[in-house]
Amino acid sequence: MANKWDERKKAQEEEYFVKKERELLAKMKAKQEDEAKEAAKKASYMKCPKCGDSLKERSFQKILIDQCVACHGIWLDAGELEEVAEKEGGSWLGKFWQKNA
Ligand SMILES: [Zn+2]
Repeated sequence: MANKWDERKKAQEEEYFVKKERELLAKMKAKQEDEAKEAAKKASYMKCPKCGDSLKERSFQKILIDQCVACHGIWLDAGELEEVAEKEGGSWLGKFWQKNA
């Protein structure tokens, strides 16, 4: 009888460790996937959509913009164009934005 009890206990313990191991593996996998996603996001964020070269952060009118080091194209994040346009209400940029809003 004692043997049967021990076997059951052992099986429960094994089940517990298998479960823990599975949880750990799932956590590790999720972490790896997150890191890969983050790296892919960063890689695409840092590249010029026009020529594929690197973008460098610059400050323009106190707004952070991304400028390509090769073709000097300027990339604005969502909301940044509105900010520039607001500051430059009377300029071509302000008019351009109002027309397209
Ligand atoms: Zn470029």
